[in-house]
Amino acid sequence: MPDLKIISLNCGSSSIKFSLFRFSDAGKNAVSPLNMDRVLSCRIEEIGTGFGSFYLKDENKTESEKKNFSNHEEALNYIFSNGGPLKNLLKKNKAGGGNGLPDIVVHRYVHGGKYYIKPLTVTGRDLKKLSELNYLAPLHNPVNLNGLKIMSSMFPLSRQVCIFDTAFHGVIPAYAAFYPLPVEYHEKFDIKKYGFHGISYAFITGLLKILDKKIKKTIICHLGNGASVCAVKNGKSIDTSMGYTPLEGLMMGTRCGNIDPEVPFILKNKLNLTDDAINEILNKKSGLLGISKKTYDFKELLKQKDAHSKLALKMYAYRIIKFIGQYAAALNGTDALVFTGGIGENSDWLRKEVCGSLSYLGIKIDEEKNAAAAKYFQSYEPLGMLDAEKSAKMISLDKDAGVKAFVIHTDEELQMAFESVLQLRLNL
Ligand code: ADP
Repeated sequence: MPDLKIISLNCGSSSIKFSLFRFSDAGKNAVSPLNMDRVLSCRIEEIGTGFGSFYLKDENKTESEKKNFSNHEEALNYIFSNGGPLKNLLKKNKAGGGNGLPDIVVHRYVHGGKYYIKPLTVTGRDLKKLSELNYLAPLHNPVNLNGLKIMSSMFPLSRQVCIFDTAFHGVIPAYAAFYPLPVEYHEKFDIKKYGFHGISYAFITGLLKILDKKIKKTIICHLGNGASVCAVKNGKSIDTSMGYTPLEGLMMGTRCGNIDPEVPFILKNKLNLTDDAINEILNKKSGLLGISKKTYDFKELLKQKDAHSKLALKMYAYRIIKFIGQYAAALNGTDALVFTGGIGENSDWLRKEVCGSLSYLGIKIDEEKNAAAAKYFQSYEPLGMLDAEKSAKMISLDKDAGVKAFVIHTDEELQMAFESVLQLRLNL
């Protein structure tokens, strides 16, 4: 196998994040996250809003500027066009003949439904099947599909691979995945817990294995705009807080998470709302935004002094504490607790607030280490080979604590590159 160039692409509703990786000496090198060499990373935000930004980092430079794109196609065309920032890099790279093409384009795909629990190498036939999953995650899957279509037509000779966020949770046992509804709804319509953030959980689980082989049971909190918790035993998900959709579970930036299922019906009648309006309330007007009445942005909320903002933060932390308790019970104890995602990595306040209620688990964090980790991850932008020690910070007071608390920088793009190469190596 020649050297490989891999583009890992994560299309969100108004953003594109991607990295270019090189996997050298592909015939001999072990396929491991440790052997993926990140050559470049790029973020394009606020697409279509008029407040766009463009950020790119490679070995030689960091570029950060205001740049507006009206849609994803325009942004991707700009990056990969002749003279665009990536085209040159693909060419300069002697690996793979320097033909200007990536060998693999790997896409983050949020909902894989019941069919996709492994990486998928996309053929023309799959596009229709993938489009049939759109209704399962209407905010995410259509955007993922759009990115896949654009990149497939731009690089028709490259291998296009999808990695599904639901896949990591495909092994959750039925007693944890099923809802206590009439069982035929599961059998006929596959109504059950699918879970999300699986690419992130797979990365964190792999990294912990590299760091400390003794860790068998882990509770991972992935806290970003969307947020979830996962219980992992021997490398496998046994339960997670998101469900059939990414609305279940924790309180999030704009999503309510768990509420009494009667409430939407009551609101609908009281306010005479349509189903779409109810959906909009639960998904886009609730959570931190709904309670604070100010913002969905955690960092901004920490600066506010009013009672609603304080209540929002308190509720957010309280719901995490309760889920950790549930999963400590489900796992019958845990060896490690991990914080990741934008809030999990960057907010020492949140970690202190949560861990302050976990002394029953033997978790005690070192305030200095906790604050230092926040500072460290706020400016952490990995390039080159993965360094497990640099991606993780232990914040426990006692380094030999029975339950270790970690902050780990998640790297979904690296995980996707790794899984796509593994799939190629195994010839799946
Ligand atoms: P997404 O789920 O969209 O990928 P991220 O993982 O980037 O989101 O997380 C975004 C969240 O992280 C936002 O609520 C943001 O305010 C929060 N965040 C980012 N930096 C900090 C910080 N320094 N302190 C607290 N929260 C932060």
